[in-house]
Amino acid sequence: MKAGDVMFFRSIVGKLWISFIVFAVIILLFLGLVFSELFAGFYYELKSEKLVDDGTRLAEILAEYPISNPMVGRQVEFMASFVDANITIIDPEGMVRMCSGSGYMGRSAHRGMTGMMMMQHGVRLNTDEVNEVLKGNVVVKRGYHQDFETTLLTAAVPIIRDGEIAGAVLLYAPMEPISETIKTVRLLILYAGGGAIVVATVLSLVLSRKITRPLLKMNRIALDMARGDFTGQVPEDSRDEIGALARSLNYLSQELKKKTAAEKRIEQRRRQFVANVSHELRTPLSYLQGYTEALKDDLPKTEEERSNYLSIIHDETLRLRRLVDDLLDLHRIEEGKLVLERGPVAMDELIKVVVSKLEPRARENGIKLEAIVPEGLPLVAGDADRLEQVLINLVSNALQYTGSGDVVRIEVKDRAGRLQVKVSDTGEGIPEDELPYIWERFYKVDKARTRKGGGTGLGLAIVKGIIAAHGGEISVESMLGKGTTFTFILPVAGPMGAGG
Ligand code: ADP
Repeated sequence: MKAGDVMFFRSIVGKLWISFIVFAVIILLFLGLVFSELFAGFYYELKSEKLVDDGTRLAEILAEYPISNPMVGRQVEFMASFVDANITIIDPEGMVRMCSGSGYMGRSAHRGMTGMMMMQHGVRLNTDEVNEVLKGNVVVKRGYHQDFETTLLTAAVPIIRDGEIAGAVLLYAPMEPISETIKTVRLLILYAGGGAIVVATVLSLVLSRKITRPLLKMNRIALDMARGDFTGQVPEDSRDEIGALARSLNYLSQELKKKTAAEKRIEQRRRQFVANVSHELRTPLSYLQGYTEALKDDLPKTEEERSNYLSIIHDETLRLRRLVDDLLDLHRIEEGKLVLERGPVAMDELIKVVVSKLEPRARENGIKLEAIVPEGLPLVAGDADRLEQVLINLVSNALQYTGSGDVVRIEVKDRAGRLQVKVSDTGEGIPEDELPYIWERFYKVDKARTRKGGGTGLGLAIVKGIIAAHGGEISVESMLGKGTTFTFILPVAGPMGAGG
C-alpha cells in the first residue's frame, strides 16, 4: 500500500456508508415498532367503537323482541356476517342463548375461530366480562382468549328491558386482520431497509466524487511537493472546507516553491562567492610565491632589482589585505552587522581629506580632481570613517576609469534636509546594459582590465551597503565614452551649521 492509500472501511466513503446504513436501520426499526403499535391501537380503537355500536344496536332490538322472534335470529346472522365478529347472546344467568357461530360461520372463517363451535346453547359463560356486563356495564377488552385460543377484541353490551338486565350481547372479533397488516408493514420496512442500503451505496459513491476525489488529488499533490515538484494545482472551486483546504494547499505549494527557488539562488550565490574569492586570492598568492622564491634563490642581481621585487611583494600583500578587509565589510553588511559609529559629520571637511589623499594620484595621471562645496552645509548623522571609505571608493573608481585630461568632480548640494553628493567623471563610462549589475559583489565591467587598478568588484557593493546603513540612497548615471556620475543622498543630522 502506498503512502496515503486507505482501506475502504477506514476511508471517508466507507465510514459514511456504514453510518448511513446504521442510521437507516435504526430509524426503520424504530418506525416499524411505532407503526405496529400505532396501527394496532388505531385498529383496536375503530373496531371496538364499531363493535360497541353494533352491540348496542342488537341489544336495543333484543330489548324489544323476544329471542324466539325469527327476525332477531336473522338480524344476528346478518350482523355477524358484516361486522366480521362472532356474536353470542346470553341470558341474565350467563347461559348462551344464541350464537352466530353455531353451525354457521359465514365469512368469519379465520384461523383460531374453530373455538366458536364450543359456544353451544346451554353453555354457561363465567368470564370476567360476562360478570361485568351482567351488572349493566358496557365492556371492551383486548387480549388472549382462553376459549378461542387466539387474541380477540371483545365487546359486551347489556340488554336492558323495562329497566332490568335481560341478558347481554357479546361480540368477539379476531385481531388477525390487523396482525396481517402489521406483518405487511414490517415487510415494507424490510424492503425500505434494502432500499436504504442501495441509496446509501449510491450516496457514498456520489460523495466519493465530491469529497474523496479532491482529497485524493490533494494527497497526491502533497506527495509531489515532498519530492520537490510544485507544478500540481488543486481546483479551488468549492466554497466548503475542502475548497478552503485546496486553497491553503495551493498557497503552501506556491510559498514552498518560492522558498526553494530562493534557497537555490542563495546556494548558487554562495558557490559563486567561494569561486570568486578563490579566484581573487590565487593571483596575489602566486605573485607572492614567485617573488619570494626568486628572492630566496638570489635571482635579482642588483640591489635595485631586489627592492623592486620587495615592493611588488608589498603591493600584493596590501592587495590581499584590502581584499580581506573588503570581504569582512561585505560580510558585516550582508549580515546586517555593520556597526556605525554615528556622530555629526562635516561633509566639507571629509571631502577636503579625500581630495588631499587622492590628489597626488590624480595629478600623476594628468586628471583634474575638483570639489565644489558650498558654504554653511548642514552636518550629516553618520560614521565619518565609513563615509570617507565611500568617497575614496567612488573617487578612486573615477580616477581608475578616466585618463589624462579628464576631470573628476565632487559636488555637494543641500537638498531640503538631505545632503546630495555627486562624484562625476568624464571617463570611459559604463555600458547601459551593465549598469544594473555594477552593485553586485565581484562584478567587473571590463573583466580583462581588473589587474591594472587592483579592482576586485567589491567596492560598489560595500559603498551601497554603507549608504543604505546610513538611511541614504545611491544611484548611477553613465554614458559610454562620456563619463559616469554616482549620486548619493544622506539625511542631515539636525539644524546645526557646518563646522558646528
Ligand atoms: P572594482 O573594485 O572593480 O572597481 P567596483 O565594485 O568598485 O569594483 O566597481 C564595479 C565595476 O563598475 C568596475 O569593475 C567598473 O567596471 C565599473 N565602474 C565603477 N565605477 C566606474 C566609473 N567611474 N567609470 C566607469 N566604470 C566604473
